[in-house]
Amino acid sequence: MLTLNENFLHLQANYLFAEIAHRVADFQQRNPDVRLIRLGIGDVTQPLAPAVIEALHRAVDEQASAEGFRGYGPEQGYLFLRQAISDNDYRARGIEVSADEIFINDGAKSDTGNFTDILGRDNTVLVTDPVYPVYVDSNTMFGRSISFAPCTVENGFVPALPGDDAPAPSLIYLCYPNNPTGTTLSACELQRWVDYALAHNSLILYDSAYESYISSPDVPHSIYEIRGARRCTVEFRSFSKTAGFTGLRCGYTVVPTEVEVVSSTGQRVRLANLWRRRQTTKFNGTPYIVQRAAEAVYSPEGREQVRSTIAYYMQNAAIMHRALSELGINVYGGKDAPYLWVPAPAGTDSWGFFNRLLHEAHVVTTPGVGFGPAGEGFIRLTAFGKREDCIEAMSRIARCLKGE
Ligand SMILES: *Cc1c(COP(=O)(O)O)cnc(C)c1O
Repeated sequence: MLTLNENFLHLQANYLFAEIAHRVADFQQRNPDVRLIRLGIGDVTQPLAPAVIEALHRAVDEQASAEGFRGYGPEQGYLFLRQAISDNDYRARGIEVSADEIFINDGAKSDTGNFTDILGRDNTVLVTDPVYPVYVDSNTMFGRSISFAPCTVENGFVPALPGDDAPAPSLIYLCYPNNPTGTTLSACELQRWVDYALAHNSLILYDSAYESYISSPDVPHSIYEIRGARRCTVEFRSFSKTAGFTGLRCGYTVVPTEVEVVSSTGQRVRLANLWRRRQTTKFNGTPYIVQRAAEAVYSPEGREQVRSTIAYYMQNAAIMHRALSELGINVYGGKDAPYLWVPAPAGTDSWGFFNRLLHEAHVVTTPGVGFGPAGEGFIRLTAFGKREDCIEAMSRIARCLKGE
């Protein structure tokens, strides 16, 4: 008899963005002349860097000749890209990650969602709250039990380690700089998590999709800057937010050779080997032309162009941060991440603040409670908009909150 993976029936319906879209459409229908400004989008808006476009064109033209044509590529990714990543993202920062330990993919969502394919179903999971929903849903699909570490104003958005009385989670998801709060962890705070994972035999799954937005000199860019992390951590990165590849699709996963898990028969198994085996079965690689485009991000021109787009977004973030702070609001994030985490006025919840900003300021935001219960009382703003829209949105919000 045909049956379901019934764990899928335990997934929460994805209300958040559907509900936002519904409320926005309803408002727009009643107020067709209002120009809404959207600061809720989690997608980049600036075009790809010229160096990336040139690399795409060159790679496309190569496909027109028998000599240049590329069919199936290596599942793990072309060495030219894995080497560029190893050299630029790691060795240049004094971090030892070799090209062999890098797996190219079609974006971090795939691997953050798929990585636990190679791990037992009975592993317990810890995520932060609020959280990027992929970690929760992909583990729900396996029927794993999930616990939440709240990140609040009270704890400075630093998740607390599980108490000694609680059973240790075997999988720990950390995302820093964080989506949605825009906050970071210091090297000391990350060291505590790595020490905890080593002491309890846990695996950390570290999502650093926003690494390139870090400007504070003391914020770690990679978990591998932390002592012992190579033995207990897998790191996920993406060209999506770094270089505007949300449509092109390319990211990578680092699985250090030291990360091992003991099987039920006592065999020490390298996760990198198992992950390679999984990928060669279920994945046939990221397109050659896309990998050439990603390689161009590391050329001197590419680096400069990508840096200037990130600077544009972070200038937006600074403008929004300043404007909201001037209204007396304690804004979080926005310094090392393109997200601002904004508390609602006293007595207003996430959806209440969302509605007020939609109806009175004509600005679309994302209610924080949609990312988890600890997000209640906040909204998330993104810095991915156009400069003039960010400025206009801030003056609308100021007028609205001052009751003008
Ligand atoms: C945007 C984002 C990613 C990147 O996803 P891609 O699949 O690479 O586009 C990964 N993690 C988080 C938390 C994100 O917000």
